[in-house]
Amino acid sequence: MGDAEDPDTSSGTSDSSSGSDSETEQGPTPIDVHPTLPKQLEDLHAELLGDYTVPPVPPTDANLAPKINALSLSEKASLEHYVAWKKSNGTVKGYKYHATVLQSNLDTEILSLHQVKKLSQRLTGFYPKKVDMCPKSCIAYTGKYKDLDKCPYTSSQAKEPCGMAHYKEGRKPGTKMPQAQVQILPVMATIRALYANADTSRHLRQRDSYLKQALHLVGSAMQKFSDYGNSQLHIIQHQQMGLFKFLRDIALALSTDGAQLTMKKHSNTWLLILIILNLPATLQYKTEHIIINLTTPGPNSPGDIESFI
Ligand SMILES: [Zn+2]
Repeated sequence: MGDAEDPDTSSGTSDSSSGSDSETEQGPTPIDVHPTLPKQLEDLHAELLGDYTVPPVPPTDANLAPKINALSLSEKASLEHYVAWKKSNGTVKGYKYHATVLQSNLDTEILSLHQVKKLSQRLTGFYPKKVDMCPKSCIAYTGKYKDLDKCPYTSSQAKEPCGMAHYKEGRKPGTKMPQAQVQILPVMATIRALYANADTSRHLRQRDSYLKQALHLVGSAMQKFSDYGNSQLHIIQHQQMGLFKFLRDIALALSTDGAQLTMKKHSNTWLLILIILNLPATLQYKTEHIIINLTTPGPNSPGDIESFI
């Protein structure tokens, strides 16, 4: 139905009515992307990466994919039960009752909730990491703050640095322990798990096929943008910045914001989420595909959020 001759249906240029320009240029407006990063960002990259180098790209041959050890009937039934329980927001009692029914009918042991959680953690490698932080949420003791004994952060309202001690005395005399810690959830464990499943693995490779389609159309008037996958930005990152050379490379969008979790606005928690841009646009923003990486404990908002990131 779309007729290329019809000037009124020029695809998706919604701002054309308010614009004063009479030019009817074909194709999208070029976006301003810097293929070379500002020095500040490059320095930050270098500081964050240290002597880290990217490991070799794993083979794409499916036969060489890492093997998952075969599960026993008990483990398999327990995991399926756990997934169903989790998806239905079941109670702990509910888990136990249904487990008993399953156990007597399958004639195999259904693992306890604690055991099944441990098993899924072992299979996925999904281990949270604890990072020291200032009890007032000013900073996380990472990067330049790593070895400090007290919080150096000065908020915009304060005249002096916070000064809260990093450590307090441990349970055993002469030992010390951090005053507060924040839990960081791993990102790569989620990505690996998504690649270990045939369906989600295919979805993750959508980014690469969008890129290939978009590259194919570069320079033609047919170009149509709808999402990150076939965006100009993606093409520029690929062609000029040398990124996304491999089929399984992952593009993530990072988003952070404060949230009041109680009616009283005394506590301000900050959440950091990652959106997997590899996925088809219809799946990207679904709750089950959002990676929640970090939640600061509150009650204060973080001072230097970058130290947490
Ligand atoms: Zn502090």
